[in-house]
Amino acid sequence: MIHVTKTYLPNKEKYIQYVDEIYKSGWITNNGPMLKKLEERLAKYLGVKNVVLVSNGTTALEIAYRTLDLEGFAITTPFSFVATTSSLVTNGLLPIFADIDEKTLNLDPKNIEKLITPNTSAIVPVHVFGNTCEVEAIEEIANKHNLKVIYDAAHAFDVKYKDTSVLNYGDISTLSFHATKLFHTIEGGALIINDDKLAQKARYLINFGIENAESIPHLGTNAKMNEFEAAMGLCVLDDIEEIKNKRKTISDSYKKELKGLVTFQEQNENASENYSYVPVVFKNEKELLKVQKSLNEKQIFPRRYFYPSLDTLDYIEPKQECKISRDISKRILCLPTFAELTQDEQNIIISTIKKAL
Ligand SMILES: *Cc1c(COP(=O)(O)O)cnc(C)c1O
Repeated sequence: MIHVTKTYLPNKEKYIQYVDEIYKSGWITNNGPMLKKLEERLAKYLGVKNVVLVSNGTTALEIAYRTLDLEGFAITTPFSFVATTSSLVTNGLLPIFADIDEKTLNLDPKNIEKLITPNTSAIVPVHVFGNTCEVEAIEEIANKHNLKVIYDAAHAFDVKYKDTSVLNYGDISTLSFHATKLFHTIEGGALIINDDKLAQKARYLINFGIENAESIPHLGTNAKMNEFEAAMGLCVLDDIEEIKNKRKTISDSYKKELKGLVTFQEQNENASENYSYVPVVFKNEKELLKVQKSLNEKQIFPRRYFYPSLDTLDYIEPKQECKISRDISKRILCLPTFAELTQDEQNIIISTIKKAL
């Protein structure tokens, strides 16, 4: 069986050495030495100032909104994983959907400005499948209307825009380190925050709002990452270049072999890629279902990322409609890609798709 992705498991002996260290220290959570080491290494590797590690990527989004005291409406994309939208709703914010660009699959800046009202406090774009948003256009709109920008960068681990990390754009960028992501800590996530004061506030919020033994000035929650998760991150980070190289080879091969048969995402010219996903767009849903069925018969399970479009969620009121997102979400499929996928397996996937089309 081949799924859309497979969790990368690092060398077991190496992980056990870290576990031994954790046992020796007896410190298994609460800002321990493994977590501190991972925060330091990630800041350096990614080229960012403050990394605040948290329990998962959804919590990272929620903490980001609370760190910035957001209220009212947030303009976001309907073409993403459900957590981008549900995290807004659970924090009392109303998602206002701006439609996407059909080629880049990212929120189209042209659709943002007409949706801004006095109740709008933020823009929450997503670097979909690691493809960098039009960060400069978004920044200009945000500055003009005094809005905060929180990037859901769950897919954009180690993506560079021009000469800097894409994570340095916006007020806060959030990452997911879930087992299915390019870089993972089993479960986990992070906030990337340029402003030191805001980073400190986020650190209080993830620890019940406690500032010190006698002072609890913030309304916080518990969103801490534990030492076993941080240790997994230290191991995976050692291998990340190798993981990325393998995924690049797989991605290049899909692009070469399926050119003309399907449409690939148009990449931001000024940004690097991290090869975390291989999304392909079909002419229509019928074609997608045909390909999916042929692959499933061979025990190959691509995923319909992202389906359905989030503007169709029942719990969002008032109802909104983003035509491009709805159309794309019906005919896009993410093909299997992970470090352990063999050339033979990929050849079977490619030939099955070709035959079905
Ligand atoms: C995975 C993902 C999340 C949620 O991250 P978790 O760590 O699973 O909570 C949020 N947004 C996007 C775009 C994602 O892909």
